[in-house]
Amino acid sequence: MGQSDKLAEYRRKRDFHLTSEPSGKEKIDGRKKNQFVIQKHDASNLHYDLRLQVDDVFASWAVPKGPSLDPDDRQLAIRTEDHPLQYGNFEGVIEEGNYGAGTVMIWDRGSFTNLRAQKEEDGSSLKQSLKDGKVEVWLEGEKLEGGYVLIRTDQGEDEQWLLKKLKDEKADGRRKPVNSQPRSVESGRTLQEIKAEANA
Ligand code: MN
Repeated sequence: MGQSDKLAEYRRKRDFHLTSEPSGKEKIDGRKKNQFVIQKHDASNLHYDLRLQVDDVFASWAVPKGPSLDPDDRQLAIRTEDHPLQYGNFEGVIEEGNYGAGTVMIWDRGSFTNLRAQKEEDGSSLKQSLKDGKVEVWLEGEKLEGGYVLIRTDQGEDEQWLLKKLKDEKADGRRKPVNSQPRSVESGRTLQEIKAEANA
């Protein structure tokens, strides 16, 4: 499947004459591998969009409560359509009337490793992990570090998954970056500042 096929749903939901989001045709550094981004998205409901690069697109989940560093937490993560890699650079306002209208912030980003691929008895690629409904990654972000697991719990129209911090040296039940580190890693702005500047 080419990038355009994987992005069919992404494109169907959007009119690129009306939204400032990338269409996926913009020029990009194609050499980057295993990127992740988490975008704080103040749409009809505030949520955090977790995106993991799988080849030439981002596999994506909407996490209403945002990621936790506490291995005792389980966060609902709703699988959403694949997004173009250009989306990882998008911060701004999706205008009213468009799909996902609201403010988008680059809350965290970095690279990841696929933990299942490293296990001798497993060795699963990320693509296979997505099919299996079990993804294990080690994130190297500016706010988040360490192992996370995503487990699919429901294969309905909107696939439901759970996001959970693995028990490792980066686990920390006291640190709550969703609350204590609310600003953009791209611009240092809050959601309110991004919105105000777009309207200025
Ligand atoms: Mn979203």
